[in-house]
Amino acid sequence: AKRIKVDQPVVEMDGDEMTRIIWEFIKEKLILSNVDVELKYYDLGLPYRDQTDDQVTIDSAIATMKYNVAVKCATITPDEARVEEFKLKKMWKSPNGTIRNILGGTVFREPIICKNIPRLVPGWTKPITIGRHAFGDQYKATDFVITKAGKFKMVFTPADGSKGKEWEVFDFPSGGCGMGMYNTDESITGFAHSCFQYDIELNYKAEFDKLKIWYEHRLIDDMVAQVLKSSGAFVWACKNYDGDVQSDILAQGFGSLGLMTSVLVCPDGKTIEAEAAHGTVTRHYREHQRGRPTSTNPIASIFAWTRGLEHRGKLDGNPDLIKFSQILERVCVETVETGVMTKDLAGCIHGLSNCKLNEHYVNTSDFLDVIRSNLDKALGK
Ligand code: NAD
Repeated sequence: AKRIKVDQPVVEMDGDEMTRIIWEFIKEKLILSNVDVELKYYDLGLPYRDQTDDQVTIDSAIATMKYNVAVKCATITPDEARVEEFKLKKMWKSPNGTIRNILGGTVFREPIICKNIPRLVPGWTKPITIGRHAFGDQYKATDFVITKAGKFKMVFTPADGSKGKEWEVFDFPSGGCGMGMYNTDESITGFAHSCFQYDIELNYKAEFDKLKIWYEHRLIDDMVAQVLKSSGAFVWACKNYDGDVQSDILAQGFGSLGLMTSVLVCPDGKTIEAEAAHGTVTRHYREHQRGRPTSTNPIASIFAWTRGLEHRGKLDGNPDLIKFSQILERVCVETVETGVMTKDLAGCIHGLSNCKLNEHYVNTSDFLDVIRSNLDKALGK
């Protein structure tokens, strides 16, 4: 069969450990065998980041600004143990942080729903997508501890030399702590744009009416109660700290990390970077290194590719590419729903200690082979 031709390139960010192995299979056997796309390849695997003094991460972000679509494999964020393991020159920063600082934008996490995978919150039958405003607030705050009585004040001094303003925050009778935090109009507006753009394009009001969807503001405590009672199907735009906490609650509530996607949407609405929400699955990689088979869930990594390609299809006006992406996503969900799955998902159904190989779950490579043959069938090959 003929491969689907893609006009514009896609930036590919390779990664580490178990996800790097899965990534290679997805790229060769699921994507490139069906899609003729030019990949701008950046190796964000830790050895090459170290070799290039992390320049490769910066270059990959700049390429993303140019081509508007990136797909990213999970990468190691080094800690002291990794510096030792890889004999690193430096404890390089998180690639996701570096990329996000260059691109700006908002990270949206969305669960993939399979009917037969039970959720901690059974009512969540449709996805809840969380958008976190990842700038400022508590994460860029100035905080302090004091040990005696005194006044805590805030001062604003205008850059144009006009009259400033002073606020008294608290008159401490004795020791305590305080914090000053901020955000900017530019960042808040950018966040709002990204949230509205996650599902629809510009001119929100008319588009919202047409789609019969709406926006409303709620306080966080009210929202948490609402979310627990709801059946899903909305985007939840959160302030920085709320988004940090609530996205982990959602990941747990929906079951497995192997079913959680993550898309960075820039305020321009054009540029996105898609990835799995999970890490490099180090525990499985250690098994793999010992020559033992693993049962690692590749679905969120596959969705990194499909979300990226679907967006490429929208930007380029390529309906075949959009259709292919949707078929591959459907094949993943239907494969699980027919009972073929990896151990993390079987564990959600039967309890991990009861799961038996080939009865309840299959190995990584067997699962990928089933996905590939189901995809071929779905594509009529
Ligand atoms: P992890 O997400 O790799 O694993 C957390 C737990 O979830 C483990 O028990 C793992 O077995 C399970 N799990 C995660 N994904 C799975 C999948 N697809 N199939 C089956 N089980 C899965 O996180 P971690 O162990 O804390 O970190 C491992 C490495 O990943 C670290 O070096 C960390 O820096 C990196 N990391 C990267 C990203 C990213 O690139 N976005 C995110 C988180 C962690």
